[in-house]
Amino acid sequence: MARYIFVTGGVVSSLGKGLSSASLAYLLQSRGYKVRIRKLDPYLNVDPGTMSPFQHGEVYVTNDGAETDLDLGHYERFSGITAKQSDNITTGKIYSDVLKRERQGKYLGKTVQVIPHITNRIKEFIKNDVVKEDFVICEIGGTVGDIESLPFLEAIRQFSNEIGRNNTLFIHLTLVPYMKASDEIKTKPTQHSVKELRSIGIQPDIIICRSERTIPIDQRKKISLFCNVDIEDVIETVDVKTIYEAPISFNKEKLDKRVLKFFKIHSKKKANLNPWKKITKLVLNSRDQVNIAVIGKYVELKDAYKSLDEALTHGGIANNLKVNLRRIESDHLNPKQIKQKLNSVSGILIPGGFGKRGTEGKIAAINYARINKIPFFGICFGMQMAIIEFARNQLNIKKATSSEFGPSKASVVGLMSEWSKDGQLIKGTDKNLGGTMRLGSYEARLKKDTKISKIYKTLKIEERHRHRYEVNINFKEKFENKGMIFSGLSPDKKLPETIELKDHPWFIGVQFHPEFKSRPLVPHPLFSSFIKAAKINSKK
Ligand code: GLN
Repeated sequence: MARYIFVTGGVVSSLGKGLSSASLAYLLQSRGYKVRIRKLDPYLNVDPGTMSPFQHGEVYVTNDGAETDLDLGHYERFSGITAKQSDNITTGKIYSDVLKRERQGKYLGKTVQVIPHITNRIKEFIKNDVVKEDFVICEIGGTVGDIESLPFLEAIRQFSNEIGRNNTLFIHLTLVPYMKASDEIKTKPTQHSVKELRSIGIQPDIIICRSERTIPIDQRKKISLFCNVDIEDVIETVDVKTIYEAPISFNKEKLDKRVLKFFKIHSKKKANLNPWKKITKLVLNSRDQVNIAVIGKYVELKDAYKSLDEALTHGGIANNLKVNLRRIESDHLNPKQIKQKLNSVSGILIPGGFGKRGTEGKIAAINYARINKIPFFGICFGMQMAIIEFARNQLNIKKATSSEFGPSKASVVGLMSEWSKDGQLIKGTDKNLGGTMRLGSYEARLKKDTKISKIYKTLKIEERHRHRYEVNINFKEKFENKGMIFSGLSPDKKLPETIELKDHPWFIGVQFHPEFKSRPLVPHPLFSSFIKAAKINSKK
């Protein structure tokens, strides 16, 4: 039977619950166990797909097409376990399921209530789709004390009661602040947070203390005494220099050992930390550097392009160099200043995006990269903008645009329905914006002897998508005659999946999001190749 590990957070948000859960998953998996990681989010959106990245950071996409919390990206990158639709749920989804059932008369005669109906639905989610797993790690979003998290905490309390206290482990992650004025480490916020948790009926078994500096033994004793946990279960996590150090640091603090001890499991196998040690060394010591411009609309918020930033770092790891990101807000990119803003970078990347704002700056940057032969990588919206730039400046379609920005007769990018009906321009039918995009993993076929097929070393790939608009396939010949190759297509040949320029050292656009599949231990070939090209360019 699977054992369940619940991870809650206290005192403040953004303590790194995701990274802690992901590191624990890696450690347990590396000791030979089958692990699943899940996230329960307390907000009312049915999924994060309709939230602005400013609000909630990146929307991560799974193979099976779920738009999820970005923590699922951490999980995948660290543990190597492919996340599924069934690994993320929100309060909004829970309520919408329960209300749907209510309308269908499934609770006939009953008053529908938070307890038991909402909590039952939460418990259903926790147990769902667990087959041969030894451990299921469930991270509860939010902070203990929030109104929104209450039904989740109540549900996991009940769950533990039902499957047996010995089969459930509660980990509570808190902040242990350092007060400069008194030169002291303070345990009181942790005590209060645990008190709050206990008032709901949950006694944590392990407390992970996030701290700026090492927590002295006296303070550890205090936490152990007041929070009712064994001193060895007070585990500190001091800020690491790079996130890749996290599994090493948790192992040093014996987190995996304590978890196994709780479940009375004698593990013979040790966790393999060598890959993380190697990566940490590489990241901290690489002397060579390369500057990459990332031009987007949400660059001010660090988490808005989380997987992308990570994938670029992985590209650096593959080439043994440090990638310096120059985040450029596309709205502020005046086409006249392009040269001055971009002359210190060796590669230009335009990531996914939505809406017209900031597009002229992006198009001007693509033009600069194309003409000056600077490595360019266009991802999803970035590829669509590269198509528009090329259509305007090489095919002379001056009004070339995307129908995402309004109806037009020169939509080189648009909804497929706009050109599939006898070439007649018809309006898209999508009124619902939630979960209606082309989402998840789709196959693409690559053209032989193209740059991209050489990078992937195969002609058949599968990558994750998240977009509504497509490059208009009817323009294929016109583009190809001018040197832009549609190097990858959907298996039915109707949807352009990748583009590249013939006479350019590295100019590639992809309609999908390769960043979602890049992992520190297995960097994505497109990112490795892009960084390599940027490195070559920097030496010129
Ligand atoms: N806005 C574009 C579309 O919907 C691109 C989306 C993206 O970059 N993820 O097609």
